[in-house]
Amino acid sequence: MTIKSALILLSILLVPFGVINSAENTVLIQEQYYTVEDFKSVKKFDTHIHINTDQTSFIELANEDNFKFLDIVDDRPFGLPWTEQQKFAFQHLNNFPAQMEVATTFSVKGFDKKDWAEKTIRDLKLSLSKGAKAVKIWKNIGMELRDEQGKFVMLDDPRLAPIFSFLVQNRIPLIGHNGEPRDCWLPLDKMTFSQSYYGSHPEYHMFLHPEFPSYEAHIQARDNLLEKYPDLKFVGAHLGSLEWSLDELARRLDKYPNMRVDLSRISNLQLHTLNDRQKTRNFFIKYQDRLVYGTDKAINANTNPAEFKKSIHDSWLRDWLFFATDSRIQLIGFGELNGLKLPRTVIDKIYRKNAENWLSNTPNEINKN
Ligand SMILES: [Zn+2]
Repeated sequence: MTIKSALILLSILLVPFGVINSAENTVLIQEQYYTVEDFKSVKKFDTHIHINTDQTSFIELANEDNFKFLDIVDDRPFGLPWTEQQKFAFQHLNNFPAQMEVATTFSVKGFDKKDWAEKTIRDLKLSLSKGAKAVKIWKNIGMELRDEQGKFVMLDDPRLAPIFSFLVQNRIPLIGHNGEPRDCWLPLDKMTFSQSYYGSHPEYHMFLHPEFPSYEAHIQARDNLLEKYPDLKFVGAHLGSLEWSLDELARRLDKYPNMRVDLSRISNLQLHTLNDRQKTRNFFIKYQDRLVYGTDKAINANTNPAEFKKSIHDSWLRDWLFFATDSRIQLIGFGELNGLKLPRTVIDKIYRKNAENWLSNTPNEINKN
């Protein structure tokens, strides 16, 4: 018997004694929040997954844990080239159409050529015709791509404009990973969470490359884009690279009504909660239509599917405990906090409904949930 049915039974038994009200209230309170037991039964959506393999154990796990997911193709200079990532993505989409969606991307090869935008739009149309629902733009814009003069091409570069106009006209959602966490521009000993990554990847550690665009320049270029295309269905990956400040993030969400962000910087959200749980919880309640759950998991070929599935399952479950319950959570190196225990209605939005709205080919539906 579940707690809920026990309480209902209890309230029935108590009717003759005139104490139904308090039992009824308990049932109502139970119904406002999910528990750890609800994890599997609630439909969920992870909007930030990278599948780099034809193996299907991740998709099996997603099915078992009641997750749909968005498989995002990236134009990265390392690992599997984007065309290979996309082959796997469409192969999986064909085999598991009810389980997933695909976000395609585009190459910046030949960016200086006059017909680059036209060719790129043609490629995008082909990927969209194969079932892609969204487009990803990655940090290579702003951190890697340079024009003929050797200048960095930023997100608000007019040469990218035809791509954005195409997306707006066709209501295609855009995922922007622009810039990096603010840690990337700080010395290692001033970083919050990224010491080990940048310690072993000095080439991406912008503190060591002052000739590259600043953190503020990336954020400004992204803001300029949102200013110029108010109808763009935009999701800023990794809390829009504003992971360090809920106030800065709130300012953008207020200013750009069609901006959403994915939550794939959960350690930062836990740190905000540790510092001020009430403020963080209020942020989630206020912006409940603008936040989409995502984890940025890379799914590579693996030799031990059972172990691999367990590690992803455990990490999804830990996130659920943080968002849906007030469980004690250990944030290593910082301390202990209580989960946010967001109401069911808010959990349903950030864990599924907002993603479905955003990915549907309809005009922006923010605030119509
Ligand atoms: Zn990613």
